[in-house]
Amino acid sequence: MKFIVAILIAAVSLVTYWCNRQENEFTGQMQHVDMTVEQEIALGLQTAPQMASQYGGMHPDEQARAQVNAIGQRLVRSTRAGETPYQFDFHLLADEKTVNAFALPGGQIFITAGLLRRLSSEAQLAGVLGHEIGHVVGRHSAQQLAKAKLTQGLTGAAAIATYDPENPASRTGAVAAAMIGKLMNMRYGREDELESDRLAVRLTGEAGYDPRAMIGVMRVLEEASGGASGPEFAQTHPNPGNRIAEIERAIQEEYPSGLPAGLVE
Ligand SMILES: [Zn+2]
Repeated sequence: MKFIVAILIAAVSLVTYWCNRQENEFTGQMQHVDMTVEQEIALGLQTAPQMASQYGGMHPDEQARAQVNAIGQRLVRSTRAGETPYQFDFHLLADEKTVNAFALPGGQIFITAGLLRRLSSEAQLAGVLGHEIGHVVGRHSAQQLAKAKLTQGLTGAAAIATYDPENPASRTGAVAAAMIGKLMNMRYGREDELESDRLAVRLTGEAGYDPRAMIGVMRVLEEASGGASGPEFAQTHPNPGNRIAEIERAIQEEYPSGLPAGLVE
């Protein structure tokens, strides 16, 4: 009986996941999402205040906040990101210690003061914001949410299948299943980061910024991860060193005959 329940839960999770497969209009990738764009926007707006308060709230410098938003909006306006139904807002957070940037589904994008002050050019800031726009148009949060649901369904089922109350040692089966679920998410997260890097190269270039600034951003992140403010970023972003090669390849692919003149650095 226990076994049948486990199979049923796993089957329902899998069918739900696979039925919600669709092509992302922006990236052309097939992906699993079970939310509408409207739901993504609503979820992002709902989560934004809570997220901001975790990083000391909005930065008190109104001018600096406006500058960050202006560069973000330039990226949206002058690229295909502006043709999507997403509502983009770019927020500067007060947190000086944490080096991070992130995007909520639907277009709420954040950068900490700790990361901003380490950047040395407008194009680098555009690179960071472009990367976060990439997460939004790539619908990575929605994808992760769908995946988490599947993982929960599968590991829940595995726990039921392997857990024997008369023999608590069998619990390790459930633990192993949970670990597998986590590893699965991590690998996908990494692909999402690399896709966002590629999108950042495209978006910054389209908006007239030098996409090579992204390489500078990676160096900043690399440096930061060696210091006290590192762990936070390491959790959400893969090793910057490996990303530089991918970014260089993306620039090569976008501009096979070289970069145009007059880009903002
Ligand atoms: Zn990212």
